[in-house]
Amino acid sequence: MNIRITIHRVAFFLLAVILLFGVVPAYAEEAARPKNIILFIGDGMGVSQITAGKIVKGNLNLEQFKILGLLTTHSLKTLGTDSAAAGTALATGSKTYNGSVSVSQNNEPLKTIVEYAKEKQKATGLVVSSSVTDATPAAFVAHVDSRRKEAIIAEQITRSGIDVLFGGGLAYFLPQSTGGSKRNDEMNLITELEKRMKVIRTVEEFQKLGDVDPVAGFFALRDMPKANERLPQLAEMTKKAIDILSKNQKGFFLMVEGSQIDWAAHKHSQDYLISEVIDFDNAVGIGLDFAKKDAQTLVIVTADHETGGFAIHDGSIKEKKITDSRFTGNRHTATMVPLFAYGPGGSAFAGIGDNTIVGKTIIQYLRESD
Ligand code: MG
Ligand code: ZN
Repeated sequence: MNIRITIHRVAFFLLAVILLFGVVPAYAEEAARPKNIILFIGDGMGVSQITAGKIVKGNLNLEQFKILGLLTTHSLKTLGTDSAAAGTALATGSKTYNGSVSVSQNNEPLKTIVEYAKEKQKATGLVVSSSVTDATPAAFVAHVDSRRKEAIIAEQITRSGIDVLFGGGLAYFLPQSTGGSKRNDEMNLITELEKRMKVIRTVEEFQKLGDVDPVAGFFALRDMPKANERLPQLAEMTKKAIDILSKNQKGFFLMVEGSQIDWAAHKHSQDYLISEVIDFDNAVGIGLDFAKKDAQTLVIVTADHETGGFAIHDGSIKEKKITDSRFTGNRHTATMVPLFAYGPGGSAFAGIGDNTIVGKTIIQYLRESD
């Protein structure tokens, strides 16, 4: 009975929409501002890395995006960027020098997307497959002159007021006297975090989370394992983060990083790289599914830089394999990285731009939101 009434109401609404607009809109592109923003960063993910993932997986979730762009990635002083400077550009809209985390050339803090989102009472989250103190996530919540100062980054994360935090890095939150700690002091940041959020450390606890509010999950002392052995998977963490953050009436900002695409490319390991790209694409699918249903969510997928100068020379689409690929070096390249956008406000990212456009545009949307 109730279901029937609901179906009638939905059908009537859809009919009204079709009569008014001629089509069923997926989302209103001209809508003032996105309520929610999900930013996916594939660390080291260039066009060849994506191509390799496509050859092996078949179809990628990335192929559903219709708005595409290319970003230049240079840092303040050098053509080749590192993840800290590129993360800073994405998170704050400003260029800085390599190694520095959301501080200017003069070491002044650069305000991040997460800080702007919090001012608008939006919920915020970071989901990564590295340590949560690694350069990319750190750029969204910390301000420090060197990415190597992970113990300080952990302190700043603890004070950041972030609502969802999933990844590795427990070692930087434990006091020195505790086994596995990477701190040089007796600060216990886990106890600090527990004052305002639930803290979990195992996959079993993750699977039993249920309906929680702020939560931090540390699933490794430092880095999480490779995609093939990693639990929870990036897609599962992304799903849980969206479930939690989307309860906030004011909306949310979530950053999800496929952290290890870069590490696989540094190691010149094609199989590792492909499994990481596919794992990342699975997480993108979760974000896209939510955005399609929600219609108020902007999804952006991009990279901080390309790693390894990867190129594919031979293989087979039919057999889903690559038989000849090469890396031209061990370092990050300055080649432009792809960007994919979906949802209200997405068209601002079409075409060729600089990586600072990501931080600048998201910050503008946040400043103009209610
Ligand atoms: Mg990274
Ligand atoms: Zn790298």
